[in-house]
Amino acid sequence: MRFPHHRIAPAWFDALLNAEGLTYRIAHRRAHLCPCQDPRSSGPDPHCPRCGGVGYTWEDVPYVRYEEEVQVPASREEAEGRMSGPTGRVSRAWGRLLEVVGPLGPVTGARLEEDYLVLPPGSPAPATYRVIYEAPLQGRGHAQSVRMSRKWAERGEVQVGDLVLTVPRRGPDGDNPAWDALPHDQIVLLDHAHRVEQRMVRGVKEVLTHPWVRELLRARALVGGQEVLYLPGEDFQVADGRVVWEAGRGPAPRTPYVLEYVAAPTYYVLEDLGQRRHIEGYDLPRRFYLRLFDAYPGRGR
Ligand SMILES: [Zn+2]
Repeated sequence: MRFPHHRIAPAWFDALLNAEGLTYRIAHRRAHLCPCQDPRSSGPDPHCPRCGGVGYTWEDVPYVRYEEEVQVPASREEAEGRMSGPTGRVSRAWGRLLEVVGPLGPVTGARLEEDYLVLPPGSPAPATYRVIYEAPLQGRGHAQSVRMSRKWAERGEVQVGDLVLTVPRRGPDGDNPAWDALPHDQIVLLDHAHRVEQRMVRGVKEVLTHPWVRELLRARALVGGQEVLYLPGEDFQVADGRVVWEAGRGPAPRTPYVLEYVAAPTYYVLEDLGQRRHIEGYDLPRRFYLRLFDAYPGRGR
């Protein structure tokens, strides 16, 4: 690819790689080696209480306070007399609402559903609302399926779901948190919905591979040769990325089961592909080879 003017190219890259519709919102979790060690080998302790034998732990994604003006158009639902009021859209994914101020002052009873601000029925619209919320620190990146690209497919060892992620140095919130990612770090694709069926064992292995859960579907176990279904909210829930059973519910301890859920998928950085090239000290986008976290070495032990 040739650019008409090499000084324009870097800024153009950043703008393109932050464009809505072309790119996805991503969160980054830095990996750290766990200090545990198996005395019989140089690897991690398979019974380590901190890392579970995986050998690494990952930093939590910090939550950041965002404040923005949201345009709320006149609502069709409002005109039809439905229960939900007018809606507008916030720009960051996975937000938690703190405060909303409308033309009549502070609004009570508003909520965030995905990216949508849902106001109580009767709220003025069209109008501008000031929305204060917190959301995981996030940037944007362009993800390309490796299977779609012949160049990568010819390399071999490609797995279903492998991605090449291109990350600009800066975004609307400043530095992109994923730009200086390293191998083993995790990348969460906050806009995606990944359907997961994961093998668990009650009381033994109950940590979700993809902890950014959008929806818990069900759990299934074989009890006396019959498949039994368990329902979220009734039989179990997920807390801190782990299945928690209600008292007296669920299969017996050490029973294997399958957990079905939908989550924003977690990937890990398999390889840092570096920058395509360097222009006069300008930080160009970087590229990373990503693999679904299901395949992370040590998982499934
Ligand atoms: Zn450990």
